[in-house]
Amino acid sequence: MLTGEEKNTAMKTIMRHRFLNSLITTSSGSSLLSLLLIFLITLLAPHAEAFQAKVLPSNIHQGDAFMLRVTGLDTAEPSAVFEKKALHFSKCGKGCFVAIGAVDIKSRPGVYRISLKTGKQKAELRLHVLKSSFKTTHLTLPEEKVTFSPEDLVRINREDDLLDSIWQIESERLWDGSFILPLPNPFSTPFGAKRIINKKTVSLHRGLDIQGKAGEAIQASNRGRVVLTEELFFGGNTLILDHGQGIFTVYMHMSGFNVQPGNIVSKSDVIGFVGSTGRSSGPHLHFGVKVMRVNANPVSIAGLKL
Ligand SMILES: [Zn+2]
Repeated sequence: MLTGEEKNTAMKTIMRHRFLNSLITTSSGSSLLSLLLIFLITLLAPHAEAFQAKVLPSNIHQGDAFMLRVTGLDTAEPSAVFEKKALHFSKCGKGCFVAIGAVDIKSRPGVYRISLKTGKQKAELRLHVLKSSFKTTHLTLPEEKVTFSPEDLVRINREDDLLDSIWQIESERLWDGSFILPLPNPFSTPFGAKRIINKKTVSLHRGLDIQGKAGEAIQASNRGRVVLTEELFFGGNTLILDHGQGIFTVYMHMSGFNVQPGNIVSKSDVIGFVGSTGRSSGPHLHFGVKVMRVNANPVSIAGLKL
């Protein structure tokens, strides 16, 4: 569906073509003049391509990923800006370009605009962000996992910096087709759940907890490069895959790894095993998704038909 602005742009393109056609038609008396006019028009008015642009899904919730698909473009790659960040486009067939974005969990519900440029043409697309209803869960953990010693705090800060440096990487696209969930099991804690730990500490769950038995095989959500396999304070054995274009998947609390940093893995390769390492109350997988430094709901990215 075209938005008002898109229709406007499309109409302007049609009007211009009609105007140019009328010039050519009126000059039909002289074939030489006609040819000259066509030549001049070609020089003065570069051909405007008829392209289509869609945001999918057009209605999303806070914390969701979305895709922008542009079709009917024969020439240059389009460019688009969303929330002051340039989206990364890549090919999805002849004349087809796709980019993945995400809205932050704390973004205000409402209409967001995406400015799209293809050659000399501009369009403005709209993305409707609906309010999510995140549930509250209560969790009990041993006190030593909730109160931090000065040494713990130093370690936590160091690990935060390490993770922050990873999220800055925007490498070449490695992802290939749709993202999958790494375990075929029910979820235990959804994305966005507000957690009250030991009746005091409040945290927002920025990943998805999937049930799993200790030792169960975890699959890569998509093709990517292993950029981290380390034991972290909160995440325990943590693995991060870089899928390119600022998109990462994160796997936490694992019992062990099946791959090493630098390895390129294919979608559904076994990358490690379910465990309960780090701040965890039992075997499960915490699965996270980063899209250009935004924590995205893993269920939403797995739902994109890429
Ligand atoms: Zn979790």
